[in-house]
Amino acid sequence: MDLHDGTPYWLLAHGLGPPVPPLDRDIRCDAAIIGGGITGALIADELTSRGLSTTLLDRRDLGTGSTIASTALLTYDLDTPLFKLIPTLGLDPARRAFRIGIEAIDRLDELCRSLNSPLERRASLYYTAEPGLDELAREHKARQDAGLPVQWLPRADLLAHLGLSATAAIRSDSAAQLDPYRLCHLLLRRAIDRGAAVHDRTTITARDLHTGRITLRTDRGPIIDAAHVIHATGYEAVCELPPGLVSLHSTYALVTEPTAPPPGLWPDRDMLWEFADPYLYARWAGDRLLIGGEDEPFGHPAARDRLIPDKTRALIRKFSSIMPGLTPEPAYAWTGTFASTADGLPCIGPRENGSRELYALGFGGNGIVAAASAARIIADHITGRHNPDADLFRLDRPTCH
Ligand SMILES: Cc1cc2nc3c(=O)[nH]c(=O)nc-3n(C[C@H](O)[C@H](O)[C@H](O)COP(=O)(O)OP(=O)(O)OC[C@H]3O[C@@H](n4cnc5c(N)ncnc54)[C@H](O)[C@@H]3O)c2cc1C
Repeated sequence: MDLHDGTPYWLLAHGLGPPVPPLDRDIRCDAAIIGGGITGALIADELTSRGLSTTLLDRRDLGTGSTIASTALLTYDLDTPLFKLIPTLGLDPARRAFRIGIEAIDRLDELCRSLNSPLERRASLYYTAEPGLDELAREHKARQDAGLPVQWLPRADLLAHLGLSATAAIRSDSAAQLDPYRLCHLLLRRAIDRGAAVHDRTTITARDLHTGRITLRTDRGPIIDAAHVIHATGYEAVCELPPGLVSLHSTYALVTEPTAPPPGLWPDRDMLWEFADPYLYARWAGDRLLIGGEDEPFGHPAARDRLIPDKTRALIRKFSSIMPGLTPEPAYAWTGTFASTADGLPCIGPRENGSRELYALGFGGNGIVAAASAARIIADHITGRHNPDADLFRLDRPTCH
C-alpha cells in the first residue's frame, strides 16, 4: 500500500535514522515482529527488556511507513467520544479505554526520558464551534463523572487566553507531543543493543504454521523460525483482516514557516483538537505550527495525493477562522492514509484464541498511544502474564464490526 505522499516534516527536521542491513541469514527466535514503525519499535523495546530473543523486519526503511507521516499528538481521546462509547461498551470498559490512554502517555514519557528523546507535555483543548456545543457538554460530563482530569473553558476564556475563536472547549492536562520517527529509531537502537536482530528492506512473503512454531519466508531467501509472530504492519494489515473490520481514510497535514502567536496569547502552547467530523487539529512543533485534518474516505493514492494543494489551503483557511490573530504560511505539506474501527478502539492480540500470531494495530487518531498499550499487552501475552485490558482490544470483539 502507498501509505503517504508529500513532504513529511520529521525527516527534514532531524534527518534520516541510521540504516540497518537487510536479512542475510536464517534466524530462530522467541518473537518475530513484522513492521519497523513506531508500533514494532515499542514492542521490540518491551520484548527485549523482558529478555526475549527478538527479530524485527521491515520491507521499507525503518520508520518510513505511516510513522514518518504522523503528526504525533499524544492524547487519550479515542475517535469515539466517551459518552457515545459508554452505551456501546458499557460504563466501566468505556471509562477504562480512556484511562488506558492516559497511562500509555505516561509510559511514553518514561520511555522518552530513558532514551533522552524529547517528549513535550502539553494540555489538549477539545474545542467546538456551534452546533456541537450540546454534545461537547455531554462529553465533558461523561469525563468528569469518570474522574478524568478535565476542565470546561467557555468562549470568553478561550479568546482571552489563546485568541481562539470557539464556543467552548474541554481542557485535559494529560497530553503530549513528540517526533515519532526519532523515537522509533532510538527504540530500535536500544533493542539492537539488547541483542535484537533488526533488518529492513526485507519483505515477509509467506507464513507456515507448525505445532508450537511459525516460519516466516522472505523475499531475500532466508527464513525466520519464531515461537510468536507479531504483525505490527500498520494500515497494510487491513488487506489481511476480515472485510468491514476497518475503514480507510485520507488525511492531510502541514507545517508552517516559523511564526508566533500575538504577544501574551496561547502561552502554554496547548494542542487543539476540534470536536467535529471531519476535524481540524493544530499543535506547535518548535516555532512552527503543525496543522492537520480535512479527512476524506480513501479511494486511490493518486486521487488522495492530488488533493494536497486544495487541502492545504482549506486547512489554512479553517485554522485562520478560529485563530484570527495568526497568519500561518504553509512550508511543508503531506498526506497519509489511516484506518479506523467502528468502535474507535485499536485491534490488539491474537486473531483467534490460542494463536501464536498476534496483531498490534493502532487504528484511530491516537495510534501511537495505542501502540504503547499494545507493547505491554503483547509482551504480557507472550510471557503468559494476565493483562486485564487485553479483552477490550481483542480482534474478535463484537463492537469492532
Ligand atoms: C497524517 C497522519 C497523522 C497522524 N497523526 C497522529 C497523531 O497525531 N497521533 C497519533 O497517535 N497517531 C497519529 N497518526 C497515526 C499514527 O501515525 C499511526 O498509528 C502509527 O504511525 C502507526 O505506526 P505503525 O508502526 O503501526 O505503522 P507503520 O509506521 O506504517 O509501520 C508498519 C511497517 O510495517 C511494514 N510492513 C508491512 N507489511 C510488511 C511485510 N509483509 N513485510 C515487511 N514489512 C512490512 C511497513 O513497511 C511499515 O514500515 C497519524 C497518521 C497519519 C497518516
